[in-house]
Amino acid sequence: MAERIVSLIYDKIAFIGLGLIAGSMAWATKRAGAATTISGYARSDATRETTRRLGFCDVVTDTAAEAVADADLVVLAVPVGAMGGVMAEIKGALKPGATVIDVGSVKQSVFDEVMPHVPDNVHFVGTHPMAGTEHSGPEAGFAELYDNRWTLIVKLEGADASVVDKVEQYWAALGAMTDQMDVQHHDRVCAVVSHIPHLIAYTMVGVADDLRRVTDSEVIKFSAAGFRDFTRIAASDPTMWRDVFLTNKDATLEILGRFTEELFALQRAIRTGDGDHLFDYFTRTRAIRRGIIEAGQDTDAPDFGRGAAR
Ligand code: NAP
Repeated sequence: MAERIVSLIYDKIAFIGLGLIAGSMAWATKRAGAATTISGYARSDATRETTRRLGFCDVVTDTAAEAVADADLVVLAVPVGAMGGVMAEIKGALKPGATVIDVGSVKQSVFDEVMPHVPDNVHFVGTHPMAGTEHSGPEAGFAELYDNRWTLIVKLEGADASVVDKVEQYWAALGAMTDQMDVQHHDRVCAVVSHIPHLIAYTMVGVADDLRRVTDSEVIKFSAAGFRDFTRIAASDPTMWRDVFLTNKDATLEILGRFTEELFALQRAIRTGDGDHLFDYFTRTRAIRRGIIEAGQDTDAPDFGRGAAR
């Protein structure tokens, strides 16, 4: 795990959007002592009120401009499709020399939408924590979300190296390991490891829901681990995932094409009784699972660490 830096990194940090990702960052910022003041803004009264009660922000303001005033770091933690609008809203209120980062799951579209609004005297760095849960909203956040998980740093050409270094230091203080990637590579890698798996989960649960009408709720009653794990992923936030597919269109369509070809090959192996094909395929995929466990990115406890909870 990256060594956690327990010291001040930014004087004031402002979060725009106060859901799972911002809430977890704010709790982890407090745990690390990485900021003197944390301010926050979300569009709805309900989310602002909940955040005030939870206490992960020192100040919750009623406008985005008030939240970012005097902030050294501004974190855009709204759905990908809302990033450009938020940047346009706050651009006139940013402190000269401030750094703005986003946490969006897609990067090319965020750069396209946000960069036209970034003032010359403000720095922008893309970041993407590869951590999350199926829960959303301010109550879903917790300080440990980023511990030992990767955060990808996506910078534009000509970005100030000391600014990017400081952003990486901040993520390390939140418990994360960081790696830098260019924007196209980021969107392609995320299509493979995150976006298409979510689409497959949504599809499988959708199909089962259709079948449920035929099988009279047996799908839910007898849901064994395989289907149950799909339902966890398919419970993820609809707004966030709608935006991911609308904004990472090229990469997700490309990976979906490859997925469909493999699926047809497996379908053919089943139809023709080609057991060798199935066995070899499943042996290869089992090795990938082992690699993930060896890299410390999941537990090898049986049943995904859930124990007897069923
Ligand atoms: P979330 O829990 O649903 O929170 C989203 C926040 O954004 C809410 O506070 C919401 O305010 C606010 N918001 C939504 N639309 C807005 C708009 N048009 N203007 C201003 N504020 C708006 O979402 P999240 O999971 O934290 O995700 C935030 C970002 O992190 C997304 O870009 C997502 O792609 C990225 N991300 C998510 C995950 C994950 O697993 N969840 C992982 C990595 C990256 P209200 O509550 O008032 O509506």
